[in-house]
Amino acid sequence: MSRKKEEFKPIESGKVGIYVCGPTVYDRAHIGNARSVVFFDVLYRLLKQLYPVVCYVRNITDVDDKINAKFKKTCEPISSITKRTTAMFHEDMSALNVLFPDEEPRATEHIDEMIALVERLLENGNAYEAEGHVLFDVSSMPEYGRLSIRSQDEMLAGARVEVASYKRDSADFVLWKPSEDDLPGWESPWGRGRPGWHLECSAMSLRYLGKVFDIHGGGQDLIFPHHENEIAQSCCGNNTETYANYWVHNGHLIVNGEKMSKSLGNFFTVKEVLEKAQGEAIRFCLISTHYRQPLNWTDKALEQAKSAMDRFYTALRNVENIKAEKVEIPQNVMEALKDDVNTPLAISHMHEIVSELNKCKNDAEKALQKGKLLASGGLLGLFKENPEEWFKGKITFSDTVTIQDHFHIELTDSNGKVIQVRDSKTDALMVERAKIDALIAERVEVRKAKNFARADEIRDKLKVLNVVLEDTPSGTIWKYGK
Ligand SMILES: [Zn+2]
Repeated sequence: MSRKKEEFKPIESGKVGIYVCGPTVYDRAHIGNARSVVFFDVLYRLLKQLYPVVCYVRNITDVDDKINAKFKKTCEPISSITKRTTAMFHEDMSALNVLFPDEEPRATEHIDEMIALVERLLENGNAYEAEGHVLFDVSSMPEYGRLSIRSQDEMLAGARVEVASYKRDSADFVLWKPSEDDLPGWESPWGRGRPGWHLECSAMSLRYLGKVFDIHGGGQDLIFPHHENEIAQSCCGNNTETYANYWVHNGHLIVNGEKMSKSLGNFFTVKEVLEKAQGEAIRFCLISTHYRQPLNWTDKALEQAKSAMDRFYTALRNVENIKAEKVEIPQNVMEALKDDVNTPLAISHMHEIVSELNKCKNDAEKALQKGKLLASGGLLGLFKENPEEWFKGKITFSDTVTIQDHFHIELTDSNGKVIQVRDSKTDALMVERAKIDALIAERVEVRKAKNFARADEIRDKLKVLNVVLEDTPSGTIWKYGK
């Protein structure tokens, strides 16, 4: 709101309330959505580290025009669309190590609170009824536009609102609107209808965090009109000067320097990216840029994130037999994050720890540096994988590897049984994780028996599958990659 970095002081000492606008559940989350969710997850972890009580609320918008449009297009029942998409959102975010918020209210479960808020806005003279709609009267609030810092003229030009006949002023926005019979609707003093999107967040934040709370977050693109309108509804409806004390907005995500869009063919869902890289590599890529900067998503950036994570996991694998010392999060990492969540700086400090760890001469030093690295990574939501598993890469995701069709591989086990299988749906060649392990075990055996021809054969065949073996003093390890 002030356009500058401010010292954070919670309303109640030791207690933080934070509200972040959650997904509208009609489609798979894309990588731009994930940037916001992952960033606020880091902020949440940081706040939990610093304050005894944190209440993080991230809503689910399960009544919205986009959901209705999807239903009209596909005929899939609305309840099925929202249920299915919510589950996919949870699945994708948990693959990125995102913690569950403390509260995840669904808009459809808070319609009564929304109706009550509209009633208060009508009573206070901030809203009016027209043709079954209830609209917020922007002219009733002189401070409107405080967050986005625009004049009312600019907002009119920028909002591209279709000027409906029932609006007194084109800047006025919908609080409640009538619903057609085949669309979700609730009885209200203004007839059967449904809430406007902005209203949902005002009602849910009030219910879980009160009239005035500490932090409100979301993507930059939500500043106007969404957050501006939340402020208007909440301040006018609750008779307060302020809504949230601090606003935190993350920057845009662009792909190869361009705005991500389905028509440009540079639109990626989280699920699609998870097929190319592990969740932690994606998470790392998303937090490698400071949250307020635009993030340019490229294959190269993802590759760099993967190799950075490989460096961390290699260091951890090298000290796998050493128990990490329990230590506080290193001060420089903590200071970086406490200063406007400077994740790139925190990450560079983690690289320094790895360099230290790689130089350690004795076990006590190793245990200390390992403890520092794990504590830092934990705060950023990293290093949840077992180092050994990390290098097996993509296979841990679905437990199978998809092989491109032009590879024709005849993999056989020691009994001559073909272990190559085809996915019945996609016809892609698949090989099961367990069978890779079995082949490696067989190779260990044939090497003991000095049957090196068979051992080499197994190694070569696995190589075609991008499974690379490495023989170490403690046994054969493998990783997925070229
Ligand atoms: Zn919102």
